Amino acid sequence: MNKPSTHLPLLGFAAYSGTGKTTLLEALLPKLVNAGLKVGVLKHAHHDFDVDKPGKDSHRLRKAGASQMLISSRNRHALMTETPESEAEFDYLLTRFDSSKLDVILVEGCKNIAFPKVELHREQLSKPWLYPHDENIIAIAADSQVDTQLPQMSINDLDGICQFILNYVSEFNSSPNSSVSAQLTNDSLKTASSCCDILSPAFLSVEQGQEKILSSISAVDLEENTPIEHSYGRVLSRDITSPIHVPQYTNSAMDGFAIRSDDLTRSEYNVVAEVLAGYSYDKPLNKGEAVKIMTGAPTPCFGDTVVMREQASESGDMVTFKGATIKANQNVRQAGEDLAEGQAVFKKGTRIESPEMGMLASLGFAHCDVKKPVRVAIFSTGDEVQAPGSEQKANTIYDSNRFVLMGLLERLGCEVIDFGILEDDEQLMTRALEKSAEQADLILTSGGVSVGDADYIKLALEKLGNIDFWRINMRPGRPLAFGNISNKPFFGLPGNPVAVMVSFINFVEPAIRKMQGEENWKPLKVAAVASEPLRSRLGRTEFSRGVYSVNQSGQLVVATTGKQGSGILRSMSEANCLIEVSPAVDTVKVGESVTIIPLQGRI
Ligand code: AMP
Ligand code: MG
Repeated sequence: MNKPSTHLPLLGFAAYSGTGKTTLLEALLPKLVNAGLKVGVLKHAHHDFDVDKPGKDSHRLRKAGASQMLISSRNRHALMTETPESEAEFDYLLTRFDSSKLDVILVEGCKNIAFPKVELHREQLSKPWLYPHDENIIAIAADSQVDTQLPQMSINDLDGICQFILNYVSEFNSSPNSSVSAQLTNDSLKTASSCCDILSPAFLSVEQGQEKILSSISAVDLEENTPIEHSYGRVLSRDITSPIHVPQYTNSAMDGFAIRSDDLTRSEYNVVAEVLAGYSYDKPLNKGEAVKIMTGAPTPCFGDTVVMREQASESGDMVTFKGATIKANQNVRQAGEDLAEGQAVFKKGTRIESPEMGMLASLGFAHCDVKKPVRVAIFSTGDEVQAPGSEQKANTIYDSNRFVLMGLLERLGCEVIDFGILEDDEQLMTRALEKSAEQADLILTSGGVSVGDADYIKLALEKLGNIDFWRINMRPGRPLAFGNISNKPFFGLPGNPVAVMVSFINFVEPAIRKMQGEENWKPLKVAAVASEPLRSRLGRTEFSRGVYSVNQSGQLVVATTGKQGSGILRSMSEANCLIEVSPAVDTVKVGESVTIIPLQGRI
């Protein structure tokens, strides 16, 4: 995703259609302009919408194939850009504004995207309220009162709403964060409902969370030498250059007969020798001669072409190739054609899997230099969490998160330091977390980081400093704490086991890969066709557990595993992928394309 591109305050109006968003904006604009504001408006429209008219020159030129059409006159200009593949992203659209000529951008529609909004509500429409489910709503303009600490205005009080916008703009401009991102600056606008929240959670999209995390992670700089047989899953700490030619010598790719490429048309050849792999015929091959040769055996000098055995008929020490079309240099593997001496083979940061193990061995290496395993300390938290292995006490659940994490970390080749379940005591927790930072390169906890949780872990983390409590616009896995303890990266994952896994996959795995020295790792994402309708909430990324398969027409299709509660770990076990529904989408219909993240090899 592009960086949030505007340093301008951004304010949206969220409402069901029929509430009168456009009418309200139309009435507000003269007041805002009168107050001296230069206002940009971004409106999301139906996909059939067209600003142009059939018959107009610009329309004709577009229809003739102009993918961008800029039309200009004395008083205005407009750029029309065709986007048949996919709708432009919100952040990109913001870059289309000339921010030097504006004070604020008001947004109508785009209720799916996370940025500060005013909810508009009218009783007579009998529509549900949006604010309880949308953290981006910072104020309400309605014709009734509700029980919330958000600021409320009358939807008919244009001057009041105008004043609210003016205050919003001036607070934005005086906020030290105003250059960070229009999407994050609603912190400065937090009212009684949240300013008492000492931990000031920020709202982030999945991409924003990932970017913030990765920008603060660096590779762990320790290497060790390992035998190739133990190198699976490790990450190379040095570039590998080939010390030899692979193959070392030019050899036959077939069982057959080696002849000279300047001697292809003879009716018969004299077989002068038979060469098995591991041996060689050391005399130059003369015209009229052939050497019977096995796959992998070195071709004799000048014997640069091999005819396969199936095309040959032997009689005594003579061989003929009747009916065979023979091309010069066929069926021969050249010395160094796999890897040439001096060739760059692997860059440091390459993860060693089966082919890499084989290739390293083919270069003659018995050992290689790899990054030391990242040491990860793991904790579970929560009074209700009990270790497995003893009789279940009343009101407890067995700790599954730690074991999920052990598996995930093992897959990534980490060394796990298990700190067990943290006792619910702030001091003990603080001490344990500090100790873990001495022993590990990375610290993971689960549970107790939801906004509003009174868990001790939050108090301990808060004292340890440098930890942000975020709300990621995603499900499952909304709460996430991230920061560092004694300069070691720390993740406070949510409590629910599925949320733990989804947060790990999205945030922790990329961070660990970066710590391990793997550069710019990206998960595999592919498109599949939904075979059941999928619902999501606009404004957040929804990760459903899915099962993909190939249907009878050869199409990749995906369905969910059924019930999607974030406590249902079984859904993760049954899944072979996550289905990712982006914030801009609320319903995926049967037959529509969705993004899936295959999990094979990752969990
Ligand atoms: P929390 O974020 O602490 O409110 O936890 C959310 C949910 O996750 C609660 O239902 C917890 O009981 C559950 N939970 C927390 N830690 C664990 C754990 N280690 N294993 C399984 N479930 C957990
Ligand atoms: Mg808890």
